[in-house]
Amino acid sequence: MSTPVKLTFAAPRRGKPPRHFADLTVDERKEAMRELGQPSFRAKQLATHYFDHLTVDAADMTDLPADAREEMVEALFPPLMTPIRSLEADKGATQKTLWSLHDGVKVESVLMKYPDRATLCVTSQAGCGMACPFCATGQMGLTRNLSAAEIIEQVRLAARSARDGDLGEGVRLSNVVFMGMGEPLANYKTVMTAVRALVAPEPLGFGLSARHVTVSTVGLVPAIDKLSKEGIPVTLALSLHAPDDELRDELVPINTRWKVDEALDAARRYFDATGRRVSIEYALIRDINDHAHRADLLGEKLAARGTGWVHVNPIPLNPTPGSKWTASDPAVEDEFVRRLRAHGIPTTIRDTRGSDIDGACGQLAIKEDD
Ligand code: SAH
Repeated sequence: MSTPVKLTFAAPRRGKPPRHFADLTVDERKEAMRELGQPSFRAKQLATHYFDHLTVDAADMTDLPADAREEMVEALFPPLMTPIRSLEADKGATQKTLWSLHDGVKVESVLMKYPDRATLCVTSQAGCGMACPFCATGQMGLTRNLSAAEIIEQVRLAARSARDGDLGEGVRLSNVVFMGMGEPLANYKTVMTAVRALVAPEPLGFGLSARHVTVSTVGLVPAIDKLSKEGIPVTLALSLHAPDDELRDELVPINTRWKVDEALDAARRYFDATGRRVSIEYALIRDINDHAHRADLLGEKLAARGTGWVHVNPIPLNPTPGSKWTASDPAVEDEFVRRLRAHGIPTTIRDTRGSDIDGACGQLAIKEDD
């Protein structure tokens, strides 16, 4: 086996982003109103502007006293992220945006429009400490955790952009997947604050359905168990990529800490606790993990844990810079899917939106010239 890969759990500490409304609890928002000499009910008015009207523009806030609006916006809605560049693919239906954060750190998010809905692939960390060798973000290392407001702002800006027709006709942002940069469960507390804001009904949050929020993880077992007890039945995705420890140790280095069987047991417990069918993510890498015997082993391991609790999403590997790995042959992919189904496991190939703008799964990384 090759030398152990360094995993990073604790994010480097950096200067905090300025205080933002989305980071505050309801009580803290009221307190902020008092500090500004405003009655506490204005906190709810601001929340309606933010989560429902998706605006932080004082000019839009006509129900607030004109002389105080600017001051409130300045105090509570400091700009947290500035768009640097947007790239489009799939005839405009996929949009990748590069953002600069308050400290100059850059992150990306990807907005995808479908006929009846839009999905945002959201970033939870700048870089990632999980070091998966086939993932461009994993190769960058971890720069820092995002704050809850930095995550929530990605959602607000995407929801506004979808509503205002930036992707063609106006559409509601209905789905958020934590499949952008970073390992969401390594930034657990913050991600949970963001998740609560996603699912809370307006005006406390965006009012998304929990089932339309997906948290994807390399398999941090204790954090999966914690998530199952939050009482927010988000969809869990487990990035497995190999059914055997020998290969998974290489492809998903966290496997040296929590093995395949432990990760699958935790996924099954998540289903038991929430009733949500778990997604298993499996990037098909030519001649590395796409063998028929691996499809069978995966099918056996999943079926051994029961029926109806899981489905598999194979993804043809998206190319990343400097990697010699490539996607499986379509015929091999078909056979992999066929074998899983033969074990009674529902399996659907994941479409790879945005691969021509490096906006697909595993391709988010900030290039030197950005
Ligand atoms: N760290 C979390 C969140 C990232 S989600 C996780 O790993 O689950 C991004 C998804 O894309 C994960 O399933 C990841 O394994 C997968 N992925 C990474 N690199 C990829 C690549 N080059 N091609 C296809 N999928 C990839």
